[in-house]
Amino acid sequence: MNFNELGLCKEIISAINEKGYENPTEIQKNAIPHILMGRDILGCAQTGTGKTGSFIMPLAEILNTGKSKSRMPRSLILAPTRELAMQVSEEFNFINKFLNLRMALLIGGVSFSEQDNKLAKGVDVLVATPGRLLDHIERGKVIIKDVKLLVIDEADRMLDMGFIPDIIKINKLLPKIRQTLFFSATLSNEIRNIGKDFLINPKEITINPYSSTSENIDSTFIKTNSKNKMSDLKKLLYIDPIKSAVIFCNKKADIDKVSRFLKKNKFNTASLHGDMNQNLRIKSLERFKDKSAEILIASDVAARGIDIDGLSHVLNYDVPNNPEDYVHRIGRTGRAGKRGKAYTLFDDYDDKTIILIEKLIKKKIYKTTFDKIFSSQKISYNNFNPTKEKNKYKSKTLLPEENYSNFKESGKIPDFLN
Ligand code: AMP
Repeated sequence: MNFNELGLCKEIISAINEKGYENPTEIQKNAIPHILMGRDILGCAQTGTGKTGSFIMPLAEILNTGKSKSRMPRSLILAPTRELAMQVSEEFNFINKFLNLRMALLIGGVSFSEQDNKLAKGVDVLVATPGRLLDHIERGKVIIKDVKLLVIDEADRMLDMGFIPDIIKINKLLPKIRQTLFFSATLSNEIRNIGKDFLINPKEITINPYSSTSENIDSTFIKTNSKNKMSDLKKLLYIDPIKSAVIFCNKKADIDKVSRFLKKNKFNTASLHGDMNQNLRIKSLERFKDKSAEILIASDVAARGIDIDGLSHVLNYDVPNNPEDYVHRIGRTGRAGKRGKAYTLFDDYDDKTIILIEKLIKKKIYKTTFDKIFSSQKISYNNFNPTKEKNKYKSKTLLPEENYSNFKESGKIPDFLN
């Protein structure tokens, strides 16, 4: 199936061609025709599957006829974080390139006056985080009783972040007769129950269940200990040439520590965590996206769902406490058909969490040591000075034998035997 068969207008097809998407992804193939027929959707899809396009493309198609009234948006997209809302708005802007739809973005921490002007003129699409939207509804700046199409993105994250009461409040202000698209990376019973309040006879679409990690990602766990953790992190940065990497830390204090350490070692880094104000977060993301910073040091909540083109590596300074966060973290790489690498530092006390991750992803995790990796690359790191040697050692991460012993357990044929 190609994009021409989905029932999208030529302006949207031209925008898609310009962006370089060749074929619709699974979620796009499955969701777009149903959305265009007016069905509610209960979609289970992770970020990285093309899920944003799956609702933005038909939404633009549906809204292409009709006109908006002042302060009364015709559609509403709710996202749990500011970064995700920004990403959704970017995707909308490119799909809208040859259309004339108007969009406003309501997210915390940025000046409201420009968005307020847009709202006053009338917008077709309002992208918002729940708290910020309620603020503006309460101040009389937005009226949502004319919304014909509601999208709730990353409902499970909304639940984690405590936004469900806000969403329920918003739902009470929306018209009962409307179309609703409800997306979540998991479909737990709790999420399904929440979904029931929003959806009428939805078409359920499940793509790439949450418990799976992409086949495009090579993930390796490397033994460390608390004493050597920082210098081990530095070694991690020299296993492969790194184009752009996200380093995830469990604690905010570690983000600051890692950032200071890497800056001292002449890396260009940017940080992203929930305690930063919105302007700093946007600046960090921009520096990382325009490649002036090669490494982004981030917390789980702040980086959730962020889509960055060409991310070569995910490096976990810690094993995440929540096994599901591991899937989210490494899912930042290996996206849209590209290969990616993930390395995770682990210590003895992580054993229990690793077992839980293995249960979730239904795969054995490959564990090794720096000694093994470096001896396989024939590198001695006794006098290892990464700052001087930066990216000198071209990638050849594991000896085939090591790779094989790992895959013997999984039953999967290693690449070098193919
Ligand atoms: P998402 O799941 O919405 O976070 O999208 C993940 C990535 O896939 C983004 O970089 C999109 O630009 C990209 N993408 C979306 N649809 C397609 C497509 N049909 N073909 C190739 N890449 C796509």
